[in-house]
Amino acid sequence: MVEQLERYGIVQSKRVKEVMEAIDRALFVPAETRSPYYDSPMPIGYNATISAPHMHATCLELLEKNLQPGMRALDVGSGTGYLTACFAMMVGPQGCVVGVEHIPDLVSFSIDNIKKSVAEPLLNGDSLSIHAADGRQGWPELAPYDAIHVGAAAPEIPQPLLDQLKPGGRMVIPVGTVFQELKVVDKNLDGSISVRDETSVRYVPLTSKAAQLNAY
Ligand code: SAH
Repeated sequence: MVEQLERYGIVQSKRVKEVMEAIDRALFVPAETRSPYYDSPMPIGYNATISAPHMHATCLELLEKNLQPGMRALDVGSGTGYLTACFAMMVGPQGCVVGVEHIPDLVSFSIDNIKKSVAEPLLNGDSLSIHAADGRQGWPELAPYDAIHVGAAAPEIPQPLLDQLKPGGRMVIPVGTVFQELKVVDKNLDGSISVRDETSVRYVPLTSKAAQLNAY
């Protein structure tokens, strides 16, 4: 899977390659999933999906400079915990990664998944935690963050997430309803914000728990 993503030019850096090889996607998909390495999103219950490997790789590449050892990252809508675990491996034991997911069962699922992976030791220290909460509010307790990733599409960029981004920090967030763009949001050192569109995407919505559970 990682070799193919590298051939397509989606995985470019050595660090992203190493982390995607180290964190086995098969440990993060439901047990009945037949082809965990197939490049497609897959259902994880609760009207949610694990993102496709090429989207995980794209987001890791976009955030690579903001996931250096010792840095701080927030993963909103952390779902299976796959990217949260990748972030934790990249920032290491001196860094700090927080996942926020509003479905409590997915929070326990993601913690169980991480326990089976090489990121397991980071859960026992202070460097990796996952919380059941509304991610639209971010996680102010550990702000500001060098990197913020949002794994569900917001109608617009939530202000609390902008507030919790460090100057020099970067957020990657899908924005839109039917048509969505993956936006790269940089907070400049003077506190001003630069936003650009990376690519068109299709994510599940960043919404309330009730709206998500009643979606179909
Ligand atoms: N990166 C994750 C993506 C999971 S799908 C992965 O690849 O596994 C998006 C996730 O966002 C779902 O798990 C959904 O439950 C969660 N979500 C949606 N709205 C949310 C909100 N307001 N607060 C927290 N999590 C939310």
